[in-house]
Amino acid sequence: MLFLALAYFLSARLGLEMSYTFDSISLFWPPTGIAIGALLRWGLGYWPGLYLGAMAATGFHGLGTAALIAIGNTLGPVLAVALLRALPLDPGFHNRRDVFGFLLMVPLAMTIPPTGGLLAILPATEIASPLFLTAWITWWLGDTVGALLFAPLILGFDRAVLRRALREQGRELFILLLATVAGGGVVFFNPLATGDHAVTLLLLLFPMLVWAGLRFPLWIVVLTAALLAALAALAALQQAGPFRMLGHRPGYELVWLFTTTTTAIALLVAALQGERHQFEQDLHAYNRFYRSATLITTRLAQAPLEQLDQAIRDMLVLLGDYSGADRVYVFDNDWQRHEWNDRYEWCAPGITAQINQLQNVPFDTFPGLIDRFQRGEMYLLRNLDDMPPEHALARPLLAEQGIQSLVMYPLLAGGVLLGFSGYDAVRAPRLWSEQELALLKLAADTLAEALQRQQQHRALQLTQHDLREANARLTRALAELECLADTDKLTGLWNRRKFDALLHSEVERCHRYHQPLALILFDLDHFKHINDKHGHIIGDQVLTSVAQTVTRHLRASDTLARWGGEEFVILTPLRLNAAVALAEKMRQLIADQPIPPVGAISASLGVAELNRSESGEDLLRRADAALYRAKATGRNRVAAAGD
Ligand code: GH3
Ligand code: MG
Ligand code: MG
Repeated sequence: MLFLALAYFLSARLGLEMSYTFDSISLFWPPTGIAIGALLRWGLGYWPGLYLGAMAATGFHGLGTAALIAIGNTLGPVLAVALLRALPLDPGFHNRRDVFGFLLMVPLAMTIPPTGGLLAILPATEIASPLFLTAWITWWLGDTVGALLFAPLILGFDRAVLRRALREQGRELFILLLATVAGGGVVFFNPLATGDHAVTLLLLLFPMLVWAGLRFPLWIVVLTAALLAALAALAALQQAGPFRMLGHRPGYELVWLFTTTTTAIALLVAALQGERHQFEQDLHAYNRFYRSATLITTRLAQAPLEQLDQAIRDMLVLLGDYSGADRVYVFDNDWQRHEWNDRYEWCAPGITAQINQLQNVPFDTFPGLIDRFQRGEMYLLRNLDDMPPEHALARPLLAEQGIQSLVMYPLLAGGVLLGFSGYDAVRAPRLWSEQELALLKLAADTLAEALQRQQQHRALQLTQHDLREANARLTRALAELECLADTDKLTGLWNRRKFDALLHSEVERCHRYHQPLALILFDLDHFKHINDKHGHIIGDQVLTSVAQTVTRHLRASDTLARWGGEEFVILTPLRLNAAVALAEKMRQLIADQPIPPVGAISASLGVAELNRSESGEDLLRRADAALYRAKATGRNRVAAAGD
């Protein structure tokens, strides 16, 4: 603030050096420019420094008058800055709109200092009324020109940019400044050029401004204009050059006109150059993005489903680079729980990732957002401070992540809202251009499609998995069922149904290959009695035990089945004699193995060999007849069937 006061004071003294007619009204009034530049750059809060400087500069009028003049001199720049901020003006003068705004608002605001100042000194100086108007205009012009020249000088000062210009274009800059001073000298201090001739020479100076505007940063452009203005003013004060004498007094109005015009031209050329530069950069960024986006979109569309994940991640990297955002992310909706989940995230170097914190975020944390997305509308927040009150709930969530600007797009595929993609600016607020936003929208559509494909793939995989599971269960159940259908529950042997099938196929096979086949049918003796005496449970145990004993002593080529009740049947690839021997062995086994608590048991067996072209039924019938004979002849014995 003190620095501003000092700068104001010193530049005011310099301005007063250039004053004429009225001892306190200056040809140029640089302090106004310094004040506007400083307030625009550092904030309106610095106005007390301005007031202090203005007081000190005009102190010679007496304290009361000085205080009044200083009020006018402070209010003028403050109003100018307020107006420019309301526009809003980008202090870099990067486009024509800023320049025109500046050229309009500054003269408007500069009506305040002369009005206030002249009213303040009126009682002391007693200026006559025609002179009052002249004084007002002189004061107004001095302030305006001072502001137009000096505010851009302060605003355009960028140390890094200037250092680079010095390094890269040092020689050219030197020639430019030399040419400007030399040209100014020739035009303004040329004793040979007089009258109209001298005025025409002014045209020589415009190429310098255009040259500066096309090749150098704003500050140097304005510096060139200021150099020319200073030379013009100096010449006018010394009664030399084209502005020496025009009309009733030295041509100061023309100096102002000249200075205003040169400044305006300088600013406009700089703005046009800025616009062109911006356009080139946009185009370059767009081209770069477009090329990569085409590649990635194709990749997203063609990626095998396993690579889709990586393709989406790559897309985010590209989008981060293009959008200049600090974070790029994709959320998906959990419609069941009404929550968002951060699925993919890209962060610029040095930016904290948020993906872990942003899981199960309820839709309600951002009121109205989900409805907005369902309508297909994006959400753009240029500055967190401008957040509308209805979204106040979400503000802490965004502030926590350091978000200054953000833009989010719904991810809609086939009218279904899958989630959203978003871009955060963390380090500084970001003003995305319309063109950038249009491309980000396109990117959202591509992402939505990829996400849809991925979700469909997952659903399909789940279904396939379920199907496989169900299939396996069914196969197991079927196998169990088949087993149940073929085996006897109590003994685990083949049941009669299965035995019938086996008998049928074995008979067929033996007929075809002329192989022997014998059938042994056996029935436990007096089993009824066992049941009656020991009960059915014990009876069952006897049946199981007999089944196990017989199974143990058969070969793999033999087939044992439970025929029914306490009757069993053996199918064996033997001739009659061998089969009778086997039956005899079985009879002995059963008889030799007492089963507690029943004690010794016995069985009767009937044996028959398959005759040529005999059916399975006939074979069974003959074996049964043999069994009957075994029973009839005393039990616990083997009987062989005849032909
Ligand atoms: P035999 O054959 O020596 O003439 O006399 P038996 O007492 O064995 O007479 P039969 O063959 O007519 O009787 C069979 C009995 O076997 C009748 C039934 O109570 C019994 N039985 C049949 N199936 C089962 C079974 O699964 N469990 C039990 N515990 N008993 C059975
Ligand atoms: Mg029986
Ligand atoms: Mg029996």
